[in-house]
Amino acid sequence: MRIKTCLAICILLCLCVIINVANGGSACSDVTYVTRDEWNARDPKARVDMVNPLGFAVVHHTAGSECTTPDDCAQEVRNMQNYHMDGHGWDDIGYNLVIGGDERVYIGRGWDTVGAHAGSTFFNQNSVGITIIGDYTNKLPTDGVLRVLKQLLVCGVESGHLTEQYLLRGHRDVRESGPTACPGDTLYPEIQTWPHFLEQCPD
Ligand SMILES: [Zn+2]
Repeated sequence: MRIKTCLAICILLCLCVIINVANGGSACSDVTYVTRDEWNARDPKARVDMVNPLGFAVVHHTAGSECTTPDDCAQEVRNMQNYHMDGHGWDDIGYNLVIGGDERVYIGRGWDTVGAHAGSTFFNQNSVGITIIGDYTNKLPTDGVLRVLKQLLVCGVESGHLTEQYLLRGHRDVRESGPTACPGDTLYPEIQTWPHFLEQCPD
């Protein structure tokens, strides 16, 4: 009887491994992207290719209201795109990727289009700009949202969008056009503890 139980557990474990491998077993399988069609994006006025893999990821917060449902988050992303295109006169939403409180990743300019988020030409052309919807001055994003950001970064390496040695930065580290508190006084020290956040470029 015990041997049968053991055998059953072994078969179950094997099945789990096989299913995991079949799914890619990757961080990307944990990331839910929302395509531009799905959030009903406007077409960009223009776009410039960005060569991957990228050596930098820059984290932002929107410093505005939060959202928790897919409908509300999609509306926030559309509002942001309208503000960036009509208010700032930009070609498109400024960010490459946007994480909502619904724990989904909205594709802004995407991994392979130069963004308008860093306040630095070099970083716009050489980084993925990822923003989290909400204001993280006095609190952290939810555990679920932080997990999505971590998985997204791992997925970026796995899918060839980020180099294996990519450096993680907060907006305040890269902005050349005046200081910014972005990505917020509470979120910033959190990402400073993550493995790719290094003060110096590796040799
Ligand atoms: Zn920012």
